[in-house]
Amino acid sequence: MKSRQSVRASPLSYNIQINKRRLLRDLNAVSRIGIGDRGSVTRLVFSIKELRSRQFLIHQMRQIGLQIHIDRIGNIFGRLDGANAKAPALLVGSHLDTVIHGGKFDGTMGVIAALEAVRILKEQKLVLQSPVEVVCFVGEESSRFGYSTLGSSLVAGEIRAKDLAHAADAQGTKLEDILASMGIYRNNLRSMSRDPSTIRAYLELHIEQGPILEAKKKPIGIVTSIAAPTRFRVVLTGQADHSGTTPMEMRKDALVAASEFIVALEKICRRYSRMEKGRVVGTVGAISIEPGVINAIPGKAELSVDIRSIAAEAKRRVVRLVQARIREIARRRKIQVKILPLREEDPVPLDKWLIHLLKECCEMRNIAYEIMPSGAGHDAMQMAKVTPAGMLFIPSRRGISHSPLEWSEPEDICLGAQLLLDSVIRVANETT
Ligand SMILES: [Zn+2]
Repeated sequence: MKSRQSVRASPLSYNIQINKRRLLRDLNAVSRIGIGDRGSVTRLVFSIKELRSRQFLIHQMRQIGLQIHIDRIGNIFGRLDGANAKAPALLVGSHLDTVIHGGKFDGTMGVIAALEAVRILKEQKLVLQSPVEVVCFVGEESSRFGYSTLGSSLVAGEIRAKDLAHAADAQGTKLEDILASMGIYRNNLRSMSRDPSTIRAYLELHIEQGPILEAKKKPIGIVTSIAAPTRFRVVLTGQADHSGTTPMEMRKDALVAASEFIVALEKICRRYSRMEKGRVVGTVGAISIEPGVINAIPGKAELSVDIRSIAAEAKRRVVRLVQARIREIARRRKIQVKILPLREEDPVPLDKWLIHLLKECCEMRNIAYEIMPSGAGHDAMQMAKVTPAGMLFIPSRRGISHSPLEWSEPEDICLGAQLLLDSVIRVANETT
């Protein structure tokens, strides 16, 4: 049996370095799965490409010799035991699914950095107090079903059956049907969650997906809270008529009503952001119309609405105003409106102990950091509801993400991965 060494001092006293070449090599290898035009990456949840990326991870975990557990939805946990095998595990990871024509770094970097951290621990034969598990959550992105952080919500026991009811992809495949094929039903959703007493904490490294770190020339962000979205679909039903024979005053044009609503949403969010503490952002990101031909008045318009803020009360008020406005527009235009809820989440603060610990990790290596909220949602948002959760950001060039133009510098990726390893050693050695 190999000698066991327990690390109690700071990571720096052991000077454990990640293997940068291997980290970037693995990141590139995953990026090639689902690569398309202009270097874009598409790995929609439950697609063949996404499954292949998960297989890649499982293969790497096997090579390291981690104990692999895959839950019913496909979340992957690769476990490295600690000195105290019964202690709750530190989970560290992110997601491998992407949006359509997304980038190489969103999610993937966090999973690969976690893999590298654990691989180094294993190579160096360092046995920490708590077990450490590399985790890949399924379906963090909402671009297929309009439902985000699917896998982590299930682990955290945060999925509500009513939220799933309207989740379907562009082809009409219902998320509920896919889950049912895995043996996950409305009545057993809660039983899919993981016992929180088996989790010590959750750490996630991610690209910022915003412009702040680049503007402030800081290589690391430490996240304080995550803005959670309220999402709903709006279905407007008017009357499809001939575009030549129907007088303007007799029309029930669903698209014109939708247009009025989109502009109103922008106005409300802008006005509210100026008046209130706590920025609120609102977006109509998708719209479909019927019949969608040049010579017919649109009889039906369906829109997706996404409203976010760090301030829970401000967001709730904007949601109320926006929904009242669409009802008013529909009434005035004599059009039917249906509002179908997709997701209602409160903003989530991250753990103060971990924020402090991540600061110390940066200070030990003399790294400048920014303390900041996250405007984008992450798996950490769900995990924070059941365990202390912490997040590190690295800069995104020009703040761009969900695009083939998404880019983070290799040195920032390596630095982020190094700090992730440092913090894993600290957290897994601090006993409660
Ligand atoms: Zn992500």
